[in-house]
Amino acid sequence: EVGGGGRGKEERILVSVRVRPLNAKEIERNDTADWECINNTTIVLKNSNLPDRSVYPTMFTFDRVFGFECSTRDVYEQGAKEVALSVVTGINATIFAYGQTSSGKTYTMTGITEHSVADIYDYIKRHKEREFVVKFSAMEIYNEAVRDLLSVEASSLRLLDDPERGTIVEKLTEETLRDENHLKELLSICEDNRKLDWSVCSERASQASSAGARLKEGCHINRSLLTLGTVIRKLSEGRNGHIPYRDSKLTRILQSSLGGNARTAIVCTMNAAHSHVEQSRNTLLFANCAK
Ligand code: ADP
Repeated sequence: EVGGGGRGKEERILVSVRVRPLNAKEIERNDTADWECINNTTIVLKNSNLPDRSVYPTMFTFDRVFGFECSTRDVYEQGAKEVALSVVTGINATIFAYGQTSSGKTYTMTGITEHSVADIYDYIKRHKEREFVVKFSAMEIYNEAVRDLLSVEASSLRLLDDPERGTIVEKLTEETLRDENHLKELLSICEDNRKLDWSVCSERASQASSAGARLKEGCHINRSLLTLGTVIRKLSEGRNGHIPYRDSKLTRILQSSLGGNARTAIVCTMNAAHSHVEQSRNTLLFANCAK
């Protein structure tokens, strides 16, 4: 089977959307759910009172859409598993969540990571004739600075070009995973370190105080996301032309897991609430470009 962009089915990016239910606060202030998943693959905007309704599409179709009733296991099984398990056959894999703050990225990715590792260990146990090494590292890219989430040090790590391995992050902590419980331990360390405020160190505090610096910060944050959007769009079009991996840290790091011998799953998370309709639409437009 050949996809719209001329790439084979297995090369396509697996794109799904997960809608999170309204939380207690949103219900309390009489916010309403604007979006509805009408079947496994289609999500529609129900609210007809939006002034600019005609400007945007109001119905979107993806490989899978996951409504309120779907569990993270459902999202994993149908939106990520086949990509996650491709690593045991020597294919690089990327699974990422995309969506506005508080739309459920962490909630969804934590579950996907746990299910992936459980399945990978299950595979390893059933294939005793082969030798596997499972390693874990975690980083955060903020303002085009790369921070090791297994370390409390706030300094930014450098990217290096290795002739064999491609772009590598210098000095990034790499732990060899013992088992699934070890993963949970490491994830909780990362979660704690992620909450540490970068502005406590160095020149960042003084920089952050000027409006100009904040503007620069905004540009940097957007650089990785904008470049990711461009890279994903070009990959999904299946064209052979230039793909601007090198324009941002995020895409440099992900290059070997996005293009070439690689599979990618994207889970776009969104909040169904009316008060978030603009951001949700932007998320769906991003997801639509990745198909
Ligand atoms: P993000 O990482 O995108 O900023 P989070 O994953 O932290 O968002 O989610 C924000 C809040 O919403 C958290 O309290 C989380 O537990 C809750 N949440 C997210 N997705 C769901 C969901 N599908 N069902 C129930 N609660 C959810």
